[in-house]
Amino acid sequence: MPTVGEIVKKTTSFFQEKGFDSPRLDSELLISRALGWERLQVFLKFDYPLSEAEMEKCRELVRRRAKGEPVAYILGEKGFYEHVFEVNTSTLIPRPETELLVERGLEFLNSSDAAKPEARQSALVVDLGCGTGCIGLSIAAAVPIAKVVLVDFSLEALEVAKRNAARLGVEARCEFRHADAGDLEALQDLVGRVDLLVANPPYIDPTDERVSPSVRQFEPATALFAGGPGQKGLEEIRRWALTSWKLAATSACTLFEIGDGQGDDVIQIFRESGWADVQLRRDLSNRERMIVGLLEGEQHG
Ligand code: GLN
Repeated sequence: MPTVGEIVKKTTSFFQEKGFDSPRLDSELLISRALGWERLQVFLKFDYPLSEAEMEKCRELVRRRAKGEPVAYILGEKGFYEHVFEVNTSTLIPRPETELLVERGLEFLNSSDAAKPEARQSALVVDLGCGTGCIGLSIAAAVPIAKVVLVDFSLEALEVAKRNAARLGVEARCEFRHADAGDLEALQDLVGRVDLLVANPPYIDPTDERVSPSVRQFEPATALFAGGPGQKGLEEIRRWALTSWKLAATSACTLFEIGDGQGDDVIQIFRESGWADVQLRRDLSNRERMIVGLLEGEQHG
């Protein structure tokens, strides 16, 4: 009987030949899941011999991965910021670069508390197009006074976000809103009240050839793509920027993730929506991946 160590090694070279980005990690995660083990046990029990039934379970998960299915969907979860989030094919898989929004959002909430003592009582946060809820729920978990409204037009995604809120123990401070983030009518009660808005909108042009086949095949198109071919993926950002302007309180911050190369267009869009103080922030690979809009005690409409 082959041992766990041998199977992990064999699977790693198989994934390597397929050109996967992290063959060793994928192999360890899938084999340990197939056996119902923690990943660490793969190292501790590397000479454990697998039964035929265990081998079959491993083969099944390895086959799914070999067909391009992302590991996160096979496992049903993905780590993001400080927590593990449930994911399924109705939600985008959280990406590490999106953690930038959480970090900047926390910075804003923490500094605005100092500036506005009355804000210590509560802070209203809105996550537009929440998907798994990874951004808004990470903020809810880190800021005990935050109340978070999570908005998504996919009911399936909202169900995932609800379960994630329960997982993190923050559901009592969360509200789930079934609405299109560009539909101001559905968000009317929030107008002029929100301290922090976060969004990772769909911002990819549907004809963009940089999108990998696996992303295109498995992740929800509505969470990725915006507008028609050649519209540069800016359609939803345009609608959501206006929502963020209308919902913002007099002192507020809005943070959107954007695509590499969209910076200049998005600055323009935010200005046209009403945001005067707008800045782009770069990620660790020096690409402009986030837009920050700030309001400091200004009346607006
Ligand atoms: N907010 C979620 C995320 O960042 C979903 C974003 C989306 O569906 N476009 O993963």
